[in-house]
Amino acid sequence: MSTDWKRLLDDLNVPNWTEGKNCSPGRINIQCPFCSDKSNHGSIGLEKGDYQCWRCEGGHPVRALSLVARIPMDSARDLIRKYSHGVSAYTPTQCKSTSGVKSITLPGRPIGEPHRKYLHGRGFDPEELEFYHGILGTDMVGDWQGIDFRYRIIIPVYDCHGNLCTFQGRDYTGKQELRYKCCPVEKAVVHHKHLLYGAELAQNRNRIVVVEGVFDQWRMGPGSVATFGTSLTREQVSLLTQWPEVIFLFDPEPEAQQHARDYARDIAACGCSVEVCAAEFGLDAKGNPRDPGDLTPAEAQDIMKELGIKA
Ligand SMILES: [Zn+2]
Repeated sequence: MSTDWKRLLDDLNVPNWTEGKNCSPGRINIQCPFCSDKSNHGSIGLEKGDYQCWRCEGGHPVRALSLVARIPMDSARDLIRKYSHGVSAYTPTQCKSTSGVKSITLPGRPIGEPHRKYLHGRGFDPEELEFYHGILGTDMVGDWQGIDFRYRIIIPVYDCHGNLCTFQGRDYTGKQELRYKCCPVEKAVVHHKHLLYGAELAQNRNRIVVVEGVFDQWRMGPGSVATFGTSLTREQVSLLTQWPEVIFLFDPEPEAQQHARDYARDIAACGCSVEVCAAEFGLDAKGNPRDPGDLTPAEAQDIMKELGIKA
């Protein structure tokens, strides 16, 4: 990658040096935003685009640019791309069409009585879910391209720009073998494991809470995104790095917590600030540990407030 760092920094009115004190060939120096640098100890490699500081450990170059130019991380990333020729090392993985499928239509119809009853029973407001997430429902009719999606709540999954990419169907009878049924990869515009559920509602935030499942996301509300399980794909990790501050709120099970810590390390390495919240949510009526999806709306609101997420 070759980025025109000189022009980029000049255009952003960020003071920079290529010769004189602290400078070395092939690097452009700036005042380091990661330490209390009063001089020009920070530098970006013109060839590699790496960041180094003589005084501190430094940080991710995208983060460095966002701090010195006082712009959001995603703008910094976009600008680096704009000022680059060839392939940028810091381009977040774009949502790739998996199969050449350009668009999909969802199974189902507007939700009816059984769907509402199920959602109410789990403490959700069906109208809110329809409004924010576009859920639909199937009943005895639920064939979709030859696949059985009967008796399910249909949950559309969008990319961060709000384009419909795929969907999941959640059984509401409690009787079907698969609680969740996914749109097959080859019929989806983008595989759901390359997406973050709720990302389209969280674009302009600084801080994001990462939860495991769709119901957790519904419960924690705007400002949270779900990863469809505790194992993240590289695409999901990459998508998460678009937010400067990332907080993992996975289920309290040790395995989930370990996953959260592992991914937190990867995301921190990209210059984001990351926390792993190992909250205990008490036990449910059956004595099982509760997860974020089991919280009452009021409890969820309190936690989000505590985590510094504005409603
Ligand atoms: Zn420094």
